[in-house]
Amino acid sequence: MRILLTGGAGFIGSHLCDKLLKEKHHVVVIDNLITGSLENIAHLAGRDDFTFIKHDVSNFIFIPGKVDIVMHLASPASPNPSSPFSYPQLPIQTLKVGSLGTHNALGVARAHGACFLLASTSEVYGDPQEHPQQESYWGHVDPIGPRSVYDEAKRFAEAITMAYHRYHGMKTHIARIFNTYGPRMRLDDGRVIPNFVCQALKADPLTVYGDGAQTRSFCYVDDLVDGLYRLVMSEENEPINLGNPSEMTIHQLAITINQLADNPAGIQLLSDQRAPADPQRRQPDISRAKGILDWEPQIDLDHGLSLTIEDFRGRL
Ligand code: NAD
Ligand code: UDP
Repeated sequence: MRILLTGGAGFIGSHLCDKLLKEKHHVVVIDNLITGSLENIAHLAGRDDFTFIKHDVSNFIFIPGKVDIVMHLASPASPNPSSPFSYPQLPIQTLKVGSLGTHNALGVARAHGACFLLASTSEVYGDPQEHPQQESYWGHVDPIGPRSVYDEAKRFAEAITMAYHRYHGMKTHIARIFNTYGPRMRLDDGRVIPNFVCQALKADPLTVYGDGAQTRSFCYVDDLVDGLYRLVMSEENEPINLGNPSEMTIHQLAITINQLADNPAGIQLLSDQRAPADPQRRQPDISRAKGILDWEPQIDLDHGLSLTIEDFRGRL
């Protein structure tokens, strides 16, 4: 099949390129490189089955030739305003790519009679009041808070995806992705694992925001990409959580990374750097993914972190 991938030069997108090419599909990437990098896809340059187009998908998209599947991953994704590549620093671009970009990506899919997959997020649940989060939960989102540019754009993206499914009868899929990490994340991405791994490799103390009691559940990128592939090949159109249900505090994560990277510098608690809208707890309920896609993560945190540390060591 010929698969169009928006955001394919990003972290998850570039791993998805590798998976799709391994499965013998042809891949067309559209990316404006606002947070991604050509380095992530440099190893694919020159292949007959791979095309890169530099373009902002918030503007009209034209793709000559056939397209069987559109997978829409384009969006800034880091919430940390200390990184210039975060959505608080790119608020209008984030709102535009989630709304106009999703509309354009759906339009291309419809014009080609292709099916469509949206990379949505656990952020549609906001700072959740139900735990773990099931797909039936409607969320707890501040529409004007510091995370709203991302959360509301993704909620709009889900709504317009369902509208195209219901009104135009298009085959669509919605993946609600939970925290995913691995090789090729930007060193200056600002999300917790890139920050901690860089700090540990430089023998600096790890900057834990708040008291470190907030939780997340981290999924290794190969597992996530396998879930996305199963979803896009399935008949499922309702949202599906994809993530690793193994939940831990940010403090525990810091201890684990320091151990794996042999960092003697310890942890620095930054109680005043806790973002007001920082979700307290996050853990996916993946019963639907297990039942419908026969999917669950295979790579445990120690193994995934070791692979990530190796990759970061080579790039620092
Ligand atoms: P990333 O920043 O590495 O990748 C995003 C890619 O989209 C980048 O290559 C960027 O240049 C591109 N992009 C952004 N706006 C664009 C535009 N207007 N036109 C064309 N390209 C554009 O981030 P990621 O972690 O790989 O995230 C990929 C997708 O998965 C995003 O949609 C994100 O919301 C979603 N997601 C990621 C996570 C995670 O933990 N990594 C969790 C939930 C959801
Ligand atoms: N965090 C931290 N130190 C950092 C970066 C992040 O303690 O250097 C915390 C952050 O406050 C949040 C968690 O780690 O509680 C996960 O943050 P991340 O930016 O990875 O993404 P989120 O899951 O909040 O979208």
